[in-house]
Amino acid sequence: MSWVITTACEGERLAKCVVACPEDAIQTAPGAKQYYINPLKCTECGLCDLTCPVAAIFPEHAVPKQWRNSVEENKSFFLNLS
Ligand code: SF4
Repeated sequence: MSWVITTACEGERLAKCVVACPEDAIQTAPGAKQYYINPLKCTECGLCDLTCPVAAIFPEHAVPKQWRNSVEENKSFFLNLS
């Protein structure tokens, strides 16, 4: 299990969550529309959620229905990086 950044993040570039994460689990890449959480690094502390100005971050089990695709998108982002 991991926390997940949904597409509600798209276009949001403050990146407070990146700074807040003690595990360095949140990344983006040139051309990517949003930030993503690496499920292999996330320890589910929830600190990223506290900083998100657009309420885009959820525990995997609580991702709202309209953003369920984001669960796989967060995982595949890191698979494609390696
Ligand atoms: S829940 Fe904690 S460990 Fe996981 S991405 Fe957010 S700040 Fe990082």
